[in-house]
Amino acid sequence: MKAKAYAAQSATSPLAPTEIERRKPRPDDVVIEIAYCGICHSDIHTARGEWGPTHYPCVPGHEIVGRVVETGKKVKRFKVGDLAGVGCFVDSCGKCTHCKSHEQQFCLKGAAFTYNGTELDGKTPTYGGYASHIVVRDGYALKIKKGQPLERIAPLLCAGITTYAPLKRFGTKKGSKVGVVGLGGLGHMAVKLAKAMGAEVTVFSTSPNKEADAKKLGAKHFVITRDPQNFAKVAGKLDLIVNTVSAKHDFSPYLGALKHAGTMALVGASPEPNEVAAFGLIFGQKKIAGSLIGGIKETQEMLDFCARKKVFSDVELISASQINDAYERTIKGQVKYRFVVDTKTL
Ligand code: NAP
Ligand code: ZN
Ligand code: ZN
Repeated sequence: MKAKAYAAQSATSPLAPTEIERRKPRPDDVVIEIAYCGICHSDIHTARGEWGPTHYPCVPGHEIVGRVVETGKKVKRFKVGDLAGVGCFVDSCGKCTHCKSHEQQFCLKGAAFTYNGTELDGKTPTYGGYASHIVVRDGYALKIKKGQPLERIAPLLCAGITTYAPLKRFGTKKGSKVGVVGLGGLGHMAVKLAKAMGAEVTVFSTSPNKEADAKKLGAKHFVITRDPQNFAKVAGKLDLIVNTVSAKHDFSPYLGALKHAGTMALVGASPEPNEVAAFGLIFGQKKIAGSLIGGIKETQEMLDFCARKKVFSDVELISASQINDAYERTIKGQVKYRFVVDTKTL
């Protein structure tokens, strides 16, 4: 079937309208008419080839929500009319140790990422959510409860799970002291989620004008990182830092803000290597850990947690023709706090 979409044709060309082919639904597929798709900074890194070679045309978008419009014969989890979400991957082998332990993103055969990847056949390219429809195996679609603001749920499919997973893994609970570096799409979700888990949150930001927003989102403290002296008041205070910064920066000052044996979980994926001074880790036995999105089970757990706690993304809804402008504003740190494309406008 044909679907309307927005694609980049090269690393330097702006995204523009196009048409893509979606596969004919298989017995275990659902066809989702996409309502909204968030713009993740990963979309920008990929569309512009910043992380290495990108396969063009590239239709980005992995924060997808919509309605099921068709189901294959074997589909039991969804029926026509149900709300559904799709995150950063659309398939995996289902048999390897990582798939079996619900971490399909690390599938040993290679997960099929939602865009700029291939299906499990290793050759059919995948296209993301800046599109009118997507076809996905039912086990890789997420359930979304009715009666919630759908456009504010879309960013949970990447920004939400990417920050929820390390917060949980490193034991965030009532009274935990959590730092969040970078107040963008991931950062603002990290603040809301950490607060909802009962943590006291400190935001580290290069943007002084985001202080009032950070407090409204749930942060107690705000550190402007442009002045190194501002780190003194948080030295040795934090159990965990979730670092969401999308560009190269020096890790060392943040390590100083961790308690003994504290962890900085890295989710921001700068195209260039970051700097870190060994002594910042050695003294205090501190850790830097990586974290990649989350598996289907944990993503569903996060969606259910957000529904229960009424945690939604703060979004600016845009039409498809504003995608290129939204990319520029995101790069300048001007997003408040996630651009979401209304796919009716494709
Ligand atoms: P975003 O909305 O652009 O937010 C990034 C924030 O980082 C900015 O708002 C800004 O916050 C801060 N920042 C930007 N440039 C900076 C610089 N040069 N120095 C210091 N701070 C800077 O991006 P996002 O969508 O949240 O994504 C963030 C990163 O996470 C991207 O690299 C993305 O690819 C990656 N990501 C990783 C995963 C994963 O699974 N690990 C999943 C999704 C995204 P302030 O204005 O507050 O300083
Ligand atoms: Zn993403
Ligand atoms: Zn697998």
